[in-house]
Amino acid sequence: MITNKNNHSDVPKTHPRYESLKYRHRIIEGMENLVVAEAGLIAHGRGECFDYILGEKTNEAAKRAIKAAVAMLLLAKKPVISVNGNTAALVPHELVKLSNVIDAPLEINLFYRKVGRINAIKNVLEKAGAIDIRGINEEKMVEIEGLDSNRRLVESIQNSDVIMVPLEDGDRTEVLKRIGKKVIAVDLNPISRTSIWADITIIDNIVRTLPVMIAVAKKLKHVDKKELQSIIDNFNNRKNILLSLETIIRHVKRQKKVAFKIVKN
Ligand code: ATP
Repeated sequence: MITNKNNHSDVPKTHPRYESLKYRHRIIEGMENLVVAEAGLIAHGRGECFDYILGEKTNEAAKRAIKAAVAMLLLAKKPVISVNGNTAALVPHELVKLSNVIDAPLEINLFYRKVGRINAIKNVLEKAGAIDIRGINEEKMVEIEGLDSNRRLVESIQNSDVIMVPLEDGDRTEVLKRIGKKVIAVDLNPISRTSIWADITIIDNIVRTLPVMIAVAKKLKHVDKKELQSIIDNFNNRKNILLSLETIIRHVKRQKKVAFKIVKN
């Protein structure tokens, strides 16, 4: 049973959409604790919609992108994982685990910098075991040129070579690419600007992606650099995005056939 302090929900585990509702309520709770911005609720809804038409599972294209992303993170000199409110609310423990396995710090980077939000997210990450959290010391922050939103304020992203940006807004991805960074995106929307601009786009739900990434990272950690490089060289992001779009088309076509059968029976 999911219950949060304000009794937003009493969802029994037997509910057919239990998993989806569980994460929806993490987002609501996150908003109550300042971790998630109001707009984060809408972003989550957009994600849910794409997840629905993707079939709510990690497809082959996503698995391929995950492998390439992990290889790129392991080969990076200074990798960093950018964290926003939704990600912190949904998967704080998994963020910390991935950060430890690939040896990359977590950097809080927000579009909406309401007073108290950075601290709220920092607390969530610390509670999940994070030690090296960047983006929390105002005096260490610098600005990324060419970006007008609050996302321009960074601590270590400017010095990183590979940046993982889960649930990103397109503006920053574009700017990060322009200043020569390698960008790994996790975005359920295969046609967002982030997805199109990133070097590696994992089109999947962050709640499923991170556990897979952690498992893959544990394996690839022991693989030599040449092999990691060949995984990256053999990966084609454009082709992979097209594969995800085809997955959506196939899934919707299948639903066209089965949806009404269910109602009739
Ligand atoms: P663009 O990149 O085209 O500019 P945007 O800036 O409007 O898009 P936002 O709403 O800021 O996009 O970003 C949220 C993105 O995160 C959406 O594309 C949404 O599909 C995606 N998203 C939301 N929840 C999840 C999730 N749980 N896992 C992966 N992606 C998600």
